[in-house]
Amino acid sequence: KAVSTTASRVPRYVRVNTLKTCVDDVIDFFKCQGYAYLGKATSVEELKTLSGKKFLLDLHLPELLVFPSQTDLHDNLLYTSGHIILQDKASCLPAFLLGPVAGSHVIDACAAPGNKTSHLAAILKNKGQIFAFDVDPKRVATMNTLLTRAGVTGCQLVQQDFLTVDPRDPKYSRVTHILLDPSCSGSGMVTRGPGEEVAPSAERLQALAGFQCRILNHALSFPALQRLVYSTCSLHREENEDVVQAVLQEWGLAFSSLPAAAKNPQPGEGTEPGAATKKRKKKKQRVKE
Ligand code: SAM
Repeated sequence: KAVSTTASRVPRYVRVNTLKTCVDDVIDFFKCQGYAYLGKATSVEELKTLSGKKFLLDLHLPELLVFPSQTDLHDNLLYTSGHIILQDKASCLPAFLLGPVAGSHVIDACAAPGNKTSHLAAILKNKGQIFAFDVDPKRVATMNTLLTRAGVTGCQLVQQDFLTVDPRDPKYSRVTHILLDPSCSGSGMVTRGPGEEVAPSAERLQALAGFQCRILNHALSFPALQRLVYSTCSLHREENEDVVQAVLQEWGLAFSSLPAAAKNPQPGEGTEPGAATKKRKKKKQRVKE
């Protein structure tokens, strides 16, 4: 369970912002700062036992560097200039798994503070269009700053309840990918400062799950949608598998889930487009993978 008590063992993950630099240049920069580069990790165990001024390339994500857990890079020039993003591996998986190809139209439905949006922009190479929504004005303002620092262009950031966004608006007619990372209990978050885990009540879980089902249903109703990634920072089945299962049931044959971890898709890799199209014609509905 990834909570405060285990935070000291969770490595410091660093996503290279490929909108501004490349992995090799960042590795060279850290080497010049006295860090030893140990190459690409070969096991999760290797990540956990990192210590001192050493770092690795992650074994799954190509733009993710891994440092010992206590490494603080907040004052590092690469961070303050937006060349690297301090983003945990779990937070990097949704955009990676969504894997839109450059030029795609993508919605980030619950986007602030925007780490996944900037990751999406990097995967798209700033080519295409991102529509990013968040209901909270303060978080939208923070996100604006973060996206500017990360060199993100081609992103329309809108302060709006995603549930009120009209899927039939022609603006969204080419949206093929949606990242949905809604509010959740946060029970799986790694807190790096002091803090105590408070288990959410059954009522709170039920309320969250109700909202998550509604917003997932809404996201699935965008007409050109091909792939959606639903992610939470929760360890509760009620907010994860149960939500996906309930919503998939409502959509019948139109959508099915992919075993992301087992398949380990590369960015841009889709499932058989023929199968999706066939289903879409049959259902007169949109289709997800
Ligand atoms: N994806 C973000 C990231 O990686 O930086 C984190 C998103 S956070 C888990 C959930 C966000 O959903 C919050 O910023 C919250 O304000 C926003 N939110 C909650 N309800 C919403 C709604 N109905 N429409 C849009 N955003 C919503």
